[in-house]
Amino acid sequence: MDQGTESLLVLAHADESGSPLTKASLEAVNAGKELADRLAATLTIGIVASGSAAAATAASSLASTGARLLAVSGEAFALPRYATDAAACETLCRAAQAGIVLAPHSSRLARVAAGVAHRLGGFVDTHITAVGGAEAGGSNTISATRWFYRQRVEAVLSRDARPWFLLLDAGTRAAFAGQPGPAQAEEVAVQLPPIRTTVSGLRAPAQDAQTIRPDAKLLFVAGAGWTKKQADGQTHAAEAGNLILRFLHASGASLGSSKSLVDQGGEGNSVLPFLTHLNQIGQTGSTPRHAKGLATCCHGEEPHVVGWRFIGDRRAVSLDPNCGWARGKADVVYIADAFQVMEKLNALLALK
Ligand SMILES: Cc1cc2nc3c(=O)[nH]c(=O)nc-3n(C[C@H](O)[C@H](O)[C@H](O)COP(=O)(O)OP(=O)(O)OC[C@H]3O[C@@H](n4cnc5c(N)ncnc54)[C@H](O)[C@@H]3O)c2cc1C
Repeated sequence: MDQGTESLLVLAHADESGSPLTKASLEAVNAGKELADRLAATLTIGIVASGSAAAATAASSLASTGARLLAVSGEAFALPRYATDAAACETLCRAAQAGIVLAPHSSRLARVAAGVAHRLGGFVDTHITAVGGAEAGGSNTISATRWFYRQRVEAVLSRDARPWFLLLDAGTRAAFAGQPGPAQAEEVAVQLPPIRTTVSGLRAPAQDAQTIRPDAKLLFVAGAGWTKKQADGQTHAAEAGNLILRFLHASGASLGSSKSLVDQGGEGNSVLPFLTHLNQIGQTGSTPRHAKGLATCCHGEEPHVVGWRFIGDRRAVSLDPNCGWARGKADVVYIADAFQVMEKLNALLALK
């Protein structure tokens, strides 16, 4: 395919946080801009908004992209729902005559992207971490990078199928942050299908109860040591829970766990009640992206540390000077009692 004729579309949407477009949408905008610049291709950004005012604010925030702006807006698109979101995305893709569609891998768009690609006779790939093509001295073919087998194998894919939908993993590039300016989005009318699902409202855990925070700068990992017998021969699970929650509250960090710690619940041992398997990091857990990570009371074994692949600066607090972290898996290891370290850290944070 002649890459010069590629037509690129970025799909962007708002969320309930109140900002005109999600951070992940703005990351997709940056990915689209970079690719369009490299290919000298036309870039269109399709906005899904709850109303014309929201669409206008979003359009203004994208003014400096120089892209063609399309918008679908209305009450029907205020909240995620398969039928309306799929109709919105399909309409935007047809209006833009898109060949390459970049979209954030948000729960909202991940849910509809495969269906929309199917309706348009296209193809979808998910969890994309990089989009290549037309780099200086490189190939002119558009390619997409993603990881397989629990982040152990990195693959570079290219396809002739168009439209080709690429769902971009959040946190893999900077968010677009251009100056707002005057911009007019072209409103595109959507033929809505019969709607069977009524959204009656949103129920979300309180900010403090939600310990998994993908946008946090810091990942705080709790290991099984927190619930093991300490120097006095006793376990101190309640104190451990209190120290960890105080730290999460004061720092805004995201909470991860080792498998051993979350598994303990099933063994009838004392556990930290706010942890579930969703917090587990590692080979059989998740592989989050954060600028920094702090592991506490965790041994740093390979099946756990493989989940740290995308953590920038790695630090650990362990009593064991021979732990896995100390053997080259962390940038800094503090050989110390995590109970004392976290008490001190919480006291310092309380002074801020
Ligand atoms: C197929 C397979 C898949 C796996 N997948 C995963 C996975 O996805 N994620 C995962 O985490 N594990 C996984 N594991 C398990 C992994 O191998 C380890 O068993 C697990 O990570 C160990 O957890 P831990 O370090 O918290 O506990 P432990 O090994 O018990 O280590 C506890 C550490 O706490 C320290 N400690 C105790 N008290 C203190 C204190 N007061 N201050 C400081 N340090 C203290 C101890 O010195 C020790 O180093 C997997 C294993 C297998 C076989």
